[in-house]
This record gives sequence, structure tokens and C-alpha cells, in this order.
Amino acid sequence: MRFSRPVTHGDPVHYRGRFAPSPTGPLHFGSLVAAVGSYLDARANGGEWLLRIEDIDQPRTVAGATDAILRTLEGFGFEWDGPVLVQSQRLAVYRAVLLDRQAHGDVYPCACSRREIAALSPPTAVDGGLVYPGTCRAGLPGASVARAWRMRVPDGEIGFQDRVHGLVRQNLAREVGDFILLRADGQFAYQLAVVVDDGAQGVNAVVRGADLIDSTARQIWLQQRLGLPTPSYAHLPVVTTASGEKLSKQTRARAVDPAAGSVPLAAALEFLGHPVPPEIARGPLANFWGWATAAWSMARVPARRGACPRADAANQRLPP
Ligand code: GLU
Repeated sequence: MRFSRPVTHGDPVHYRGRFAPSPTGPLHFGSLVAAVGSYLDARANGGEWLLRIEDIDQPRTVAGATDAILRTLEGFGFEWDGPVLVQSQRLAVYRAVLLDRQAHGDVYPCACSRREIAALSPPTAVDGGLVYPGTCRAGLPGASVARAWRMRVPDGEIGFQDRVHGLVRQNLAREVGDFILLRADGQFAYQLAVVVDDGAQGVNAVVRGADLIDSTARQIWLQQRLGLPTPSYAHLPVVTTASGEKLSKQTRARAVDPAAGSVPLAAALEFLGHPVPPEIARGPLANFWGWATAAWSMARVPARRGACPRADAANQRLPP
């Protein structure tokens, strides 16, 4: 895979960010916003920007999407540092980490079905999800068969200073419950892979969509148990359609096209609170990136935005 800048060795790198798309479809305007925000923050801080393909969720992975995403990023002039890390090639690493947590008693097997959890879950869950009531915490009931492995969580607040949202606090026991590291279908969970890989890649600055803000306390807890440092976090506003849905494959988000040059990049940057002069928005990519890197300030990024007419217009043009 092509990469344009070698990762620095020797001197400690004071900023290392990343973009970690899931290849569930082509790059759409919502993921372009996360790419632009994480890239500019890294470059404006003189830092590195790594790329990771998060393709461990096999049922959701679409053939050809990884190549399409990399080609699109390249076409827009993004330059990443070091080789691209591909999660589906790292299952042995995730397995070793899970075995290690088993040895430490941090995880336990769980036989509960979603329906059983729903029947007992208190209505305080984040993300509209379910709080795991701890049914299997003290051992599998009777003759039941383990379906998943869960991480024990503490009953106390985990807080972090988000660079966009300020102080964010979550009590994992009350709002999430013991969470899954290995799913019932045998797939490793996003929470495990993302923490292991941010650690392995030495990422110390995470810039991503605010749809993941509720995952962050779980990731910090896992980092603590694994003895990994906690990166800084910035959660960018999420692009939604007029009906308030996040752009995704489910909302039939259209692919962004590098043939449009700087125009979609400028739209993404404006979405992040940075108005772009027309001559820059319509000019060559090199000018756009130079201008944008100098203009970038996380302090200008709004915590949330309303529906994005541009995203909506793009979606309307999709065939049913
Ligand atoms: N793979 C996730 C996504 O595409 C992003 C994960 C992250 O940035 O932590 O939504």
C-alpha cells in the first residue's frame, strides 16, 4: 500500500493522530468530515496521521470498500504516515489480549441473549443501548453455554476532557454495564480492537465523530487495565440528514468523489466551523490543504450542528 511519509523513529513524536474508517461502504460526506478534522488537527500540530482499516466486523464489511476508501483519500490529497494497519490481519493480537484479560480475571463468559438482557436492563443506557445487568458476572447460570466474553466495569465515574465538548463523565456500571470484548458470533468487539490498536500504533490524539463519545469511557477503562496511556480526545459534530439520521450505509449515503476537487473538502471544513473563501474552495488541492492547515483551530469546531443541507441534498440524489 502506498504511503507518502515514513513514521518518525528516534525523537519522541508529540502528536500522533489517526483516521480509522470501517469499510462498510464507500467514503461518504460524514466520514470525510472525520478525515478532514483528524488530518488538519494532526498537520496543524506538526504531528503524524496514521490510517487504520477497521474491518473486524465481518458481517458489515463490504468487499472492495477498503480499496475504494484508500483511493478516495489519495484522490483528495490526504497523505498518511507509515503503513496502513488492517484489523482483520490482527486477530491473533486481539486473541492474546483477551487471553491475558482472562488470566487477570477482568473478563467473564456470558450466556445471555439480547432478549434476556432487554428484560432486565434499567432504562439509563447510553446510545439507546442496554445496560448489562450482570447476570453472568458470578458464573454462568446452570447448563447455559457461553456466547460472549464481557469486561468487568467499575461502579465509579470515568471522566475525560474532550477538546470540543469539555468535561465528559460516565459511570460505566450504571450507564453501560460490563461490556463485550468477544461477541457471541466469535468476532472481536470494536472496543477491544480500537484500544489495542491505538496503543500499538502509539496514537496519542484521537479526533473522530461524536457518535463515539459514549464509547470513550469504556476505552479509557480498557486502556487502564491494559496499562496503556490515554490519548487526548476530540469528538467532532456528526453529519445528519434532514430527518436527523447519521449519514451511513443505512441512510444510503452517497460516495464523495475526488473528481470534485477541493469543493467537498471545503464543505467538510465549513461544517467544522471554518468558513472557506470561494477561491480556496474552488482552487487546487495543494492550495486548499495549505490554507486549511494554517486556518485550523479545534476551538472553532462546534459541539453539534443541525442537519447539513449538503449531506441531505447528496442523499436525495441516491437512487432508491
Ligand atoms: N471505525 C469507526 C468508524 O468508522 C471509527 C472508530 C474510531 O475512530 O475510534 O466509525
